[in-house]
Amino acid sequence: MIIKTIEFFGMFTDMTKTNWKRALICVGAGLLTLPAFAAVETVTYGNFEVSFYGNGDVFSSNHWGNHSSSQDWTQEVKDCVGRALNYWSDVIVTDSTEKVKVAFVWQELVSGALGGASPLYYWNPYSGVCYSNGEAALREHAYSSAYYNLSNKETTSLVRISTNANFYYGESETGITYVQYDLQSVLVHEIGHIMGFDSFCDGDPTWGNLTMSNGDTFTAVTTLDTLLVTENANGELVSVFEAKNSVDYPGWVNYEQTVEFSAGKEYFLKTGETDSGELQLSTLKVYNPTKYSAGSSMSHVEATGTGEEPQMSYAIANGKIRRELTSDELTLLRAMGWTVAVPEPSAFGLLAGTFALALAVGSRRRKRGKEKF
Ligand SMILES: [Zn+2]
Repeated sequence: MIIKTIEFFGMFTDMTKTNWKRALICVGAGLLTLPAFAAVETVTYGNFEVSFYGNGDVFSSNHWGNHSSSQDWTQEVKDCVGRALNYWSDVIVTDSTEKVKVAFVWQELVSGALGGASPLYYWNPYSGVCYSNGEAALREHAYSSAYYNLSNKETTSLVRISTNANFYYGESETGITYVQYDLQSVLVHEIGHIMGFDSFCDGDPTWGNLTMSNGDTFTAVTTLDTLLVTENANGELVSVFEAKNSVDYPGWVNYEQTVEFSAGKEYFLKTGETDSGELQLSTLKVYNPTKYSAGSSMSHVEATGTGEEPQMSYAIANGKIRRELTSDELTLLRAMGWTVAVPEPSAFGLLAGTFALALAVGSRRRKRGKEKF
């Protein structure tokens, strides 16, 4: 059966649509000083193909709109991007020859935002899951012709970096001052969204649908969404989504939502199931504040107890030591279907040692600033 159209709601990670407009207005004011001809540089780092949009370059996208960059890329900053992408390339084991395409632009983001990621999605009707372009390229055997591109046939995700944040760009984490935000940590975080830390939840009780040309609908879920676990009306922990074989399309899978979404409710993440069907849960839960925040709610994780603050938490304090993926996040990535390489033990030891210091600094200086990303 030929499908002519798939409609779905656009989604921003980290910024609301209102904020997005404001960022565009700010950028527009600087257009007079732009150079007439600017070349966009494309560089490959590990599994990623990056396009650097400099001052005046416009990332033009039918799906995400036009995004003018308002700053050039120094070698120091490009090296910082390269370290973040090489880090992800080291963590993720893949035999794919595809690259994850990402465009980087500088923009004046709304106050409180350090960066934003806008992943692209491909729907695989045979698994029923919408894969980010990171997952599609590296994990799901490249871009199968059976997938449906949900992003106006585009193939490049967008990462926006704030021009008005006090960033530290250096390689040595010891150089971060107490008023600075570590750009490398921010970039590892934003790429995390493109690697699947994302949700199609838009705050409504029911998840969005993919609508076929004949009117049939399929539930739009990310891989992370499929791992959601919460309490039902009887107080039992249940999976939020259950995979069901499609009645109308033999061989296709549709996810059915078993529990309605409500802001403020606890959403855990399953890492597996025992033989007796008991759910095994991650030590991380999904960030779901009482007031739903578009692009922030459900796309980030937090520790359930007193565990280490995860890389993919919704905010980062300034003056902190560099943040990397925690061991709990690596476990979660495995549950999301990734093959993950465990960093060298020496690296863990170093991280644990410096992190203890970081937490102390962070809690003392929290009032100075804690920004979303
Ligand atoms: Zn984020």
